[in-house]
Amino acid sequence: MSALSEINQAIEHCQDCELAKRRTRVVPGEGPENAQILFIGEAPGWHEDQQGRPFVGPAGQFLEQLLTSIGMKRDQVFIANVIKCRPPGNRDPLPGEIQTCAKWLDKQIELLKPKMIVTLGRYSMARYFPNETISKIHGKARKLGNITCFAMYHPAAALHQGNLRKVIEEDMLKIPPLLAETEKIVPAEEKSKQLNLF
Ligand code: URA
Repeated sequence: MSALSEINQAIEHCQDCELAKRRTRVVPGEGPENAQILFIGEAPGWHEDQQGRPFVGPAGQFLEQLLTSIGMKRDQVFIANVIKCRPPGNRDPLPGEIQTCAKWLDKQIELLKPKMIVTLGRYSMARYFPNETISKIHGKARKLGNITCFAMYHPAAALHQGNLRKVIEEDMLKIPPLLAETEKIVPAEEKSKQLNLF
């Protein structure tokens, strides 16, 4: 069994916060182990909690359309969430839940070594763009070591606020050129420091 599958199994047995008591299924995340892009959402919703898979509801359908717009399929990317269990009633994740769950995403990233991390929404944005607001930072990239971090609105935002749909679609189109850039240059001295691209 691969190290990533072992992590996923450990996540499935996690009882480290109160959310474990009320979940139907854990949603560790999914995708190929050699995925170049990792998409990070917020938390499982009702559909995800039922199926144990990320982004399988309406927001997931939009995410799949967005991937199609850049010539990709969801099985080519890794999709995960900041927290792995559904908060009751789809409420926002609490700071303590995010902190307790962070170790799992950290381990997944360590093993995946993605070239690019795309944050979907405010909670994953906060990991890589602290003290920023999504309205200002969306569509922008930042280098963290040799990973390009790119912030986007959450796909569900387009379902609630129709005017964001176009913004999200346009931001998505910036991913392929950023990925191509990431593949080209990784100066050794840049690996350990954070370099702003905006
Ligand atoms: N929203 C998320 O943030 N993650 C999911 O997996 C589904 C909806």
